[in-house]
Amino acid sequence: MSIDSKIKQLAKEYASETIANRRYLHTNPELSFQEYNTARFVAQKLKDIGLTPQEGVADTGVVAIIEGKNPESKVIGLRADMDALPIFEKNDVPYKSINEGVMHACGHDVHTSSLLGTAKILHQLRDEFEGSIKLVFQPAEEKAPGGASIMIKEGVLENPAPASMLGQHVAPNVPVGKIGFREGMYMASTDELYLTIKGKGGHGAMPDQLIDPVLIASHVIVSLQQIISRNRKPANPSVLSFGRFIADGVTNVIPNEVTIQGTFRCMDEEWREDGLRRMKKMAEGITEAMGGVCDFEVVKGYPFLKNHPELTRRMKNEAIAYMGAENVIDLDLWMAGEDFAFYSQVVDSCFYRLGTRNEARGIISGVHTPTFDIDETALEIGPGLMSWLAIRELVKQ
Ligand SMILES: [Zn+2]
Ligand SMILES: [Zn+2]
Repeated sequence: MSIDSKIKQLAKEYASETIANRRYLHTNPELSFQEYNTARFVAQKLKDIGLTPQEGVADTGVVAIIEGKNPESKVIGLRADMDALPIFEKNDVPYKSINEGVMHACGHDVHTSSLLGTAKILHQLRDEFEGSIKLVFQPAEEKAPGGASIMIKEGVLENPAPASMLGQHVAPNVPVGKIGFREGMYMASTDELYLTIKGKGGHGAMPDQLIDPVLIASHVIVSLQQIISRNRKPANPSVLSFGRFIADGVTNVIPNEVTIQGTFRCMDEEWREDGLRRMKKMAEGITEAMGGVCDFEVVKGYPFLKNHPELTRRMKNEAIAYMGAENVIDLDLWMAGEDFAFYSQVVDSCFYRLGTRNEARGIISGVHTPTFDIDETALEIGPGLMSWLAIRELVKQ
């Protein structure tokens, strides 16, 4: 039997167990950096398969190796994230979250159970490939500084060092049965901006006696947008959005200060630094010129996610070979962030999307919503495809 047929058969055989694992995780979600029960569950499942997991990486991360023939020849890393979100689940399903206020609303239960299924398939087929598979179950994708960055600091990309990393993410906008890829820049860096503009408040009828922080903050917001339109290379996608502008006066009282909070996202690490430097200079300069003082603070988030072009092209072609060209689609840029980006800055990486939408069954809610769910058929496709991609990448020595 050909290797892809064997993988498809095993993925089908293990699907009910993969679904049961997903439902267990969905019922028992844990917040970022608190995935203790999840990590124990994952480690136990890996032991049941016959592997020797390393626990406690980044506190709640779990790593395991599947050795094929000639295990040192090449290593491929496969990553799943394990954390849930602070959301009250509104789905009426038997596997609804019992941890009230916490929900797997980003599909990380799917990624984790899928990688467990992948582990089982690859362990079963270990005599059929050369090299090793490194399984990376990481905490806290949803929370800065990101579980990936801590896993990397604790050496997950060394001893043995993966030649490449693969990660998948559920896609509620992609029909189940389809897979999406994008070469090169794919997801954005995410930095948070916190500005406090201090002036001198007082009676609105006497502006000449005051330093109006509301007017200053308004100029600052307009000017910062001009950095995006005038200093950014047009080929560099960027977003600057302010969602919070607090001027706590009333009709005739100008407050002493205004706070503004926003997010800056882009797909170029050099421009990211340059843009932030320009924003700080602009905000401070305008405020000073208008007589106020600006406190400009940046909380750095994740870098941008770049899919290695050749690796991603190979993986896309292998996905076509496994699933048929009609089931493989091209993805658009997405200005959301994802901490898989940390791996992509260090090692050749490919992050692809697993379709989970089923319109006929009403499974259409987006990630991070209280009604997010998936078509669980994806739990046969996900492990099978990832096993296939990993083996094909090992074949290419
Ligand atoms: Zn998310
Ligand atoms: Zn996610």
